[in-house]
Amino acid sequence: MSASSQAKAAQARTEEFQTDKPVHYIVQNLERAYGVPENERSSDPLDMLVKIILSQATSDTNSHRTFAALKKRFPTWDAALRARTATIADTIRSGGLANQKAQVIKDILRQIKQEHGTLDLSFLHDFDEEAAINYLKQFRGIGPKTIACTLLFACRKEVFPLDTHIFRVLRRVGLIPQKCTDQRAHQIMNRTVPKRKFYSFHVNLIRHGRAICRPREPLCERCPIVEYCDYGQTVI
Ligand code: SF4
Repeated sequence: MSASSQAKAAQARTEEFQTDKPVHYIVQNLERAYGVPENERSSDPLDMLVKIILSQATSDTNSHRTFAALKKRFPTWDAALRARTATIADTIRSGGLANQKAQVIKDILRQIKQEHGTLDLSFLHDFDEEAAINYLKQFRGIGPKTIACTLLFACRKEVFPLDTHIFRVLRRVGLIPQKCTDQRAHQIMNRTVPKRKFYSFHVNLIRHGRAICRPREPLCERCPIVEYCDYGQTVI
């Protein structure tokens, strides 16, 4: 099957999946339980892209620490671009996967500099969602979650990011199919969630996945969305 046929088949499968869950009530119940997080200010997209890369496979505390260390060691992205990849890796060592992350960061900086002559992605603020996604997709080592987080958090674009906590909760609830690629899940959620609630739902699903809908032994008896959850209905 050609790439375009595969893309069309994936799109058709995404359109086929329809949930009958009242998503707005699920959003609302989570907001009652965890608050209404607001994404109030836009920020620098390149800073955010690097932050999200550093957040992979580590805790929030570690990723904040490694980003602060990186900015302290390299006050400008030009300084980071001039540095050896090994020096970047040493600077972010405490966040894990340091060599891999350093290589991704270095490659991105090099590519942006070559294409634009300056290390600045603020033009993404002016792109529409599709153009911004397509732009970020070209970088090696950048997946749908990193792209969506960068665009939602820094540019306040209407793109819904999923992480492992969110995947688990959504599968258990039945908002995405049990077998579902990252890309398909992103497409389904982009279509299903009210756009003005992308940020709130994203943040609260992570909170929920950490506090209640844990990987092992979810606390369904204390869950604020149990009435809408396929898995919860089988155990309560
Ligand atoms: S009912 Fe249980 S499985 Fe469903 S979302 Fe709540 S904690 Fe997770």
